Amino acid sequence: MTAINFAVIGYGGMGSYHIHNIMPNENERIHVVGTYDHSEERQAISSQHNHKIYSSLEDILQDQTIEAVLIATPNDSHKELAIQALKSGKHVVCEKPVTMNVAELDEVLKVAKETGLTFMVHQNRRWDPDFLITRELYKNQQIGELFQIESRVQGANGIPGDWRHELKHGGGMLLDWGVHLLDQLLFLVDSRIVKVLADLSYILGDEVDDGFIAYIIFENGSRAIIEVGTTNYIKLPRWYLKGTKGTGVIHDWDLSGELVIESDKQAIQAPEPIQAGVGLTKTMAPPSEEATETKKLPNVSAEYDPFYKNFYKVVREQAEPVVKNEEVRKVMILIEEIFETAKKLK
Ligand code: NAD
Repeated sequence: MTAINFAVIGYGGMGSYHIHNIMPNENERIHVVGTYDHSEERQAISSQHNHKIYSSLEDILQDQTIEAVLIATPNDSHKELAIQALKSGKHVVCEKPVTMNVAELDEVLKVAKETGLTFMVHQNRRWDPDFLITRELYKNQQIGELFQIESRVQGANGIPGDWRHELKHGGGMLLDWGVHLLDQLLFLVDSRIVKVLADLSYILGDEVDDGFIAYIIFENGSRAIIEVGTTNYIKLPRWYLKGTKGTGVIHDWDLSGELVIESDKQAIQAPEPIQAGVGLTKTMAPPSEEATETKKLPNVSAEYDPFYKNFYKVVREQAEPVVKNEEVRKVMILIEEIFETAKKLK
């Protein structure tokens, strides 16, 4: 087994996370040779880890020992870097969002096709344990058919960093966390989208969105509410899932949550009215205890290889990529539709 020699372009937050936290899990398959970053400060930090420090992009592209590059720079630079790397004979792993829009992605995919090299996008949240639980519930129907999927990430720290505040760099939360949540959704639901409604938030006064809500309707009847917020001092659950036989909640990345499942329809008794505010309600009274069962969330692991193991197999053994470029393209189309739909509300 010969490891793939990598050079990393952009040794910032995510570039360094790949090198120090993700790639070492595959150290027989992936070997990081060195890094190139615009910033001298970042170059200096990288050199402390015994990486080869490349002085320019060309320096990497001319290095015949480098087989693949990771692009972990701000979003507006992905297209050019990817095209140059592919044209120089390097396989490419690219951070999300793959590019600024579909047109840019198509330029990259054209070159990938012409060169026959691997171009794979790091949609890492397909491996998140909370997503894998949702996927298990969707496929195996423990709470019946999921007809409403609510997926949210919320914080109160505003838009992070510097370039993420700027339109020209592809800032904003739809292109940031939005890409992850939409990629998960389309990987989950195998049905055509028939309707998208969306609203972007500009509460913080930036030129880019600080969050959004999208309501997506699929041909098979499933509905999804996708929400990203950076002004939420109280968070809603990470996942709220309504099925035809029960409801599931996953509160957070700590995987706290539960399933409440209809256990015995016969046991459902006419609910007793309860006090609600200054009135009474039967409709909103809890179901009788005998009629439901509360269960723990299932323990799930991915049935597909980890990202870099899969990348290695794609390059060396022509395996199927877990993250396919057609899927990435569908997510970019959906993002463009969300931007367009939201404009109509302005
Ligand atoms: P960052 O600002 O922390 O790091 C970017 C680095 O790239 C900086 O060190 C900068 O100096 C360098 N740089 C900028 N332009 C360059 C160029 N043309 N050539 C070489 N170096 C250049 O940003 P980040 O948070 O690491 O984000 C980088 C990318 O990773 C973005 O596309 C972002 O969306 C993605 N990201 C993905 C995840 C994930 O979970 N998959 C998480 C965070 C960020």
